[in-house]
Parts: sequence; C-alpha cells; structure tokens
Amino acid sequence: MMKPSRLLFGTAGTPKSSKKRNSISGIERVKELGLDCMELEFVRGVKMGEATAGKIFEKAEEEQIALSVHAPYYINLNSLESEKVDASVERIYRSSRIGNLCGARNIVFHPAYYHKDRPEKVYDKVATLLKELSSRLTDEGIEVILRPETTGKGTQFGSLEENVRLGVDIDNVLPCIDFAHLHARSNGAENSYDEFYTTMELIENELGREGLHDMHMHVSGIEYGKKGERNHLNLDDSDLQYAELMQVLKDFKVKGLLICESPDNEGDALLMKKTYEGL
Ligand SMILES: [Zn+2]
Repeated sequence: MMKPSRLLFGTAGTPKSSKKRNSISGIERVKELGLDCMELEFVRGVKMGEATAGKIFEKAEEEQIALSVHAPYYINLNSLESEKVDASVERIYRSSRIGNLCGARNIVFHPAYYHKDRPEKVYDKVATLLKELSSRLTDEGIEVILRPETTGKGTQFGSLEENVRLGVDIDNVLPCIDFAHLHARSNGAENSYDEFYTTMELIENELGREGLHDMHMHVSGIEYGKKGERNHLNLDDSDLQYAELMQVLKDFKVKGLLICESPDNEGDALLMKKTYEGL
C-alpha cells in the first residue's frame, strides 16, 4: 500500500450509522460520509479469514478508502510467561498477515506492560521481538508498518519517547500517536498548541520530515485520573483541545491517517476533518 499523500480522517471500526456492522458495509458508509479511512478492529482476536480479507481489499480499492488494523488488546511483549509473549507476537503477526490481505498498511498494537522491570530493560525486550517480527514479515513479503501505540497509563510501556525510538531503531516500525492517551497519561498535560507542537518537533527531530509525512494517529475525547486513562468520550464532552491539535497538524503539514476513537466515531471524525479544512 502507498503512503497517503495528505491527511486522511476516519473511524475506528465501522461508523455508528453503518447499515451493518461488517467491514464492507463500514467502508461504504465511510465513503458516503465523506471520510477517507477506517481502522479494522481485530481487538478481540484475528477471526477474519482470507476470503473475507480479499473482499475487503476490493471494496476499499473501489471506494478509495485507506485501511489500517488495530491488533488484539491482549498483547504483552513483556509478559512474565514466555508462552504469552509468543502468543502476543503471533497476534501481531496474524493481524499483519490478514491486514495486508485487506490492503491495510499500518498495524497498531499496545506493546507491553512494565510490571516491575526497568523501562530500559522492557525497551530492549520489545525492540528485540519487533526486530525479529519485522524481518519475518519482510521475508514473507508482508509489507506493513508495525505501529506501537502511545499508551494511556503509566503502567503500560509505550511513552511517546519509547515508541518514537522504536521507530528510529527498527525497519518498518513507526509510532501510532494516540493524543488522547498522551493527554491522559500525563494527567491533563499534552493539551495545548505548544505541547502538541513539542510532540511534532520531537517526531521531526527523530524521524525526519519523512516521519511527519507518514503519521498514524488516534484522537478522541478522554476521561482520566491519576492513573491515566479511564474511558473514551466524545470531543464535546471532554477537555481535549482538538482545534489546537488540528492547527499543529496543519502547521507541520502532517500526512497520514487520523483515526477517531470517540464513542461517536463518525461525528467526531467529521468534526475534526471540518475543523482542519476550515483552517
Ligand atoms: Zn489502541
């Protein structure tokens, strides 16, 4: 799949108003709404077969909708049990293989928990596993970008710096920047023009203009406390300064996919797209 030539807006999963809950119907609805992309939610397991993936590929091509994949939630590359680490790698692998057949380029996942380990030790473990997986995917001709997501809780591996560093260190790995999670993880910071600007600057410094031209983002409203993320909210019910975020994305000429994870996924995706286009 090609890198997008502009900033695309879309929904996490099928839009709320989709006639049916399946992905084909979701792609049609994304198109009707005037949105540009959709994230396939494999969050409870990769249950999709190859035949369905082929149909989704054709539909997405026909409607010119870009697809990405969210891998299962149950992934922990730093599990204390080695079988669980192996199963986690396999879930990302299967998400990549089936996602690739769907035509998805970006494969998003929550990488790991720290448990009681030092962050540096967890980084080394996650990086080693992702390097192996990236080579395996390349050997098998599966062309995807693995996207460790910035996580919403301090107990989860996946700070902005950690995920950007994975992108610097490993081929075919780039971060998924979840702005709601960064806001929740910092207990209310990361929510102004200047803070969003600093985030983009870090990405540009570490990954170059190329990094800004190949972004994958999650945005939604969010409720949070001292321990970080509680649950997702609609933008208007939250304190997320999305208009300032849109301004920063415009100022940095960011290209890529912006996936809306609000409960009203399509309403907020459209709200952000209109705000962005109005700047
Ligand atoms: Zn996620």
